[in-house]
Amino acid sequence: MRLFMALVPPPELHERLSTLADAAHARCGGRRMPDESLHLTLAFLGEVGDDLAGELAEEVCSLAVPAGRWTLDAWGHFRRPGIVWVGGSRPDAALQRLHERLWARLEGRGIPGRPSRFIPHVTLLRRAERLEADDLPDVDLEWTYNQVTLIHSINDGQDVRYAPLARSQAA
Ligand code: ATP
Ligand code: MG
Repeated sequence: MRLFMALVPPPELHERLSTLADAAHARCGGRRMPDESLHLTLAFLGEVGDDLAGELAEEVCSLAVPAGRWTLDAWGHFRRPGIVWVGGSRPDAALQRLHERLWARLEGRGIPGRPSRFIPHVTLLRRAERLEADDLPDVDLEWTYNQVTLIHSINDGQDVRYAPLARSQAA
């Protein structure tokens, strides 16, 4: 099954991300991420067998994630897949540490795919027709988190939906 680890936004932030996704979609076109799928990917694992997925779910449940606060204050894009996102204008040390910590564990289990660079971002649009619009609203969000979610990405041939498999504890 296809898995990734992510932060899931709390309800109030979720609403604000949804409003930004609407604004971006109106100006940049493309495919808007469904509200229920808005997230910050910390680690993309790809295809994992059922046994290993079960072990990873247990490991995530026993993981203690220190509380953190991520400031989102910028729009960004990845040109080739036409992704428009919101994120931070400067690197966030706590998120980098969390990313490192998760990948150290994943590599300890023989899972490949650790990226050379981690750019924390929340994807709002895919295949955007315009990547930069000068009239996008200001981004001014704080994301308070203390939990990592292991998510199953389910592709039923048409839509992709995300199903949470396990959640970490608060430290
Ligand atoms: P679709 O691929 O159909 O558009 P999706 O991207 O929402 O759907 P997945 O491809 O399963 O679903 O991706 C789940 C999460 O992992 C997303 O945040 C995605 O950006 C990220 N992701 C997917 N593939 C990779 C990859 N090769 N490297 C890093 N992150 C990835
Ligand atoms: Mg994808």
